[in-house]
Amino acid sequence: MKKQFAVIGLGRFGGSICRSLTNNDMDVLAIDSDEDRVNEFSSIATHAVIADATDESVLKSLGVRNFDHVIVAIGDNIQASILTTLILKELGVAHITVKAQNDYHEKVLRKIGADRIVHPERDMGQRIAHNIMSNNVLDYLELSDEHSIVELIASKKMHDRTLIELDVRANYGCNVMAIKRNDDIVVSPQATHTIREGDILIVIGADNDISRLEKHLL
Ligand code: ATP
Ligand code: ATP
Ligand code: CA
Repeated sequence: MKKQFAVIGLGRFGGSICRSLTNNDMDVLAIDSDEDRVNEFSSIATHAVIADATDESVLKSLGVRNFDHVIVAIGDNIQASILTTLILKELGVAHITVKAQNDYHEKVLRKIGADRIVHPERDMGQRIAHNIMSNNVLDYLELSDEHSIVELIASKKMHDRTLIELDVRANYGCNVMAIKRNDDIVVSPQATHTIREGDILIVIGADNDISRLEKHLL
């Protein structure tokens, strides 16, 4: 059986989720209180309806409780986002993902039991900042307040050297999880693996350790 998704709020973020799910052949119910937005998605989503998600009876009548996953992408109206999440939780929706506007919003969402809280603008901002600071950092994923995964391009300094020679773990407390070279990818590389300039390293570690590594090796 195909998984059933509902996306509430069809702004840029919710709209993008809706399009991606649909492009991947998922069943998507798209909901927005704005008629124009709903019209825009009527030919994209499986179903698109005009509804105020803060109205419990409306969500009930749409059968939202039976969906596997509901995404709340109401941005600016924090009150509507919180109330909607609360209703979804009370209806017993299995999995709820909510876009948060700020830390207070996130705190409340956590309290009422949202399963996953995302901050697309903040996260994308961080990723791009890391990419701007160093041309050799391709991507960045925050694991916690202090830990991340980074994707970086091996520099001249790393060329023709093994992980033992660079002693990455001992010197920087970071682990190289994988090394990509063109279409090849080596997962969990051996200590004797030789790096070439231009290889893409996927590194996990504490933020300050990763920064030291970037400073010394890139
Ligand atoms: P984005 O930041 O993702 O681009 P946006 O800034 O265009 O979004 P937001 O104010 O964040 O717009 O809201 C996203 C969508 O949520 C809008 O299309 C809005 O009509 C819809 N929305 C707001 N409140 C409700 C509600 N109570 N029920 C249903 N949809 C709502
Ligand atoms: P350690 O002494 O740190 O416990 P180890 O006993 O597992 O390492 P090896 O696996 O032979 O010894 O690795 C020797 C050194 O090579 C490690 O200390 C580390 O600095 C570096 N190294 C090997 N593999 C990796 C990796 N995937 N990521 C980062 N560093 C590595
Ligand atoms: Ca917005």
